[in-house]
Amino acid sequence: MAQLDTRAKLAILADAAKYDASCASSGTVKRSSEGSKAIGSTEGMGICHAYAPDGRCISLLKILLTNSCIFDCHYCINRKSSNVRRARFSAQEVVQLTLAFYRRNYIEGLFLSSGIIRSPNYTMEQLVEVARSLREDHDFRGYIHLKTIPDADPELVAQAGLFADRVSINVELPTDRGLQRLAPEKSSERIAGAMGELKGAIEEGHDARKRFKSAPRFAPAGQSTQMIVGADSASDGEIVTRAAGLYDRFALRRVYYSAFSPIPDASAVLPLQRPPLMREHRLYQSDWLMRFYGFKPAEVVEAADASGMLPLDIDPKLAWALKARDQFPVDVNRAPKEALLRVPGLGTKAVKAILASRRWRALRLDDIGRLTVSVAKVRPFIVTVDWRPTALTDTIDLKTRVAPKVEQMELF
Ligand code: SF4
Repeated sequence: MAQLDTRAKLAILADAAKYDASCASSGTVKRSSEGSKAIGSTEGMGICHAYAPDGRCISLLKILLTNSCIFDCHYCINRKSSNVRRARFSAQEVVQLTLAFYRRNYIEGLFLSSGIIRSPNYTMEQLVEVARSLREDHDFRGYIHLKTIPDADPELVAQAGLFADRVSINVELPTDRGLQRLAPEKSSERIAGAMGELKGAIEEGHDARKRFKSAPRFAPAGQSTQMIVGADSASDGEIVTRAAGLYDRFALRRVYYSAFSPIPDASAVLPLQRPPLMREHRLYQSDWLMRFYGFKPAEVVEAADASGMLPLDIDPKLAWALKARDQFPVDVNRAPKEALLRVPGLGTKAVKAILASRRWRALRLDDIGRLTVSVAKVRPFIVTVDWRPTALTDTIDLKTRVAPKVEQMELF
């Protein structure tokens, strides 16, 4: 590997890391260095949260330790057979970069991943050393997200959890057949085994903290994973079902969906075109439906078409409501919270406000209008004291009436 200066390595290794979407820093504990000699914090003033135009978080120093890899996953620009320029940081170089960027308030923490060099254990040791040194040698209290390597020794993965806020293992592809085809050196069993070990370690850590305040924290922001969307033939229905299974089995904090981006010098088995970014957005909306709106995976799948794909022109909650018209209209003055959460156009905040206000007075359509972005979207699905949609819920052109007219992305 040619000798490169830090700037050149940073350019290569930050660029190589951009394909990983699972970098949000949500869910960790509050930790502050105020009034001490420590450096960094996970919350509070002065920390910038910036997002790239494609919606990805850039407030972390998001880099790879190296983009060299002994594996040859077809969808990955860093695969062994890829013709990209290679670079590698030492663990101490990443430590110094993180501290320097933090002091300049460029970042709120570190997201570190790596190609696999020499062996999964060797690579994992290097990743852990970065986190260890930041925490122990420099008393760094900012956010750290470490990607862990499924084939590494569980002891090393456990060490990662002691220093990092979040640890993650990518399941990579939504189906086993996709993984076999596009990442033949990876095994869904080994990935699931490693996620299961992490889940156990996180739970043990929580239990220990309940019993002993002095017990070390273990990955307080939990574990997450990422799935690539559109590189294989998996339908949205399969992706949603897989994500729900992962949340259930491994108590994940987040599943991230990353629309496959065609990479330079791509393998011939990959599609030539990326899926529409809107597909990724619809999957995130489905994810929210399951996590915050009480939808079961099978109900989200009901919103999909016969080929299992979610519509791109309307959000999955509206798509489901248009198919489940017998569930509507919902009386906002009487319906339970679960039914209100299913009304297209009503978000969790609006539902909370409805439940609080209706204790004091009966709600009118105007009241609901003040709580939503589009009363036209909500109206066919609700009853208020002065409004009943009569036959509107059954009209054939209901979708045309309530579908958004603009292209801007909306969240329910
Ligand atoms: S193991 Fe990771 S870095 Fe290596 S080729 Fe596969 S996806 Fe890329």
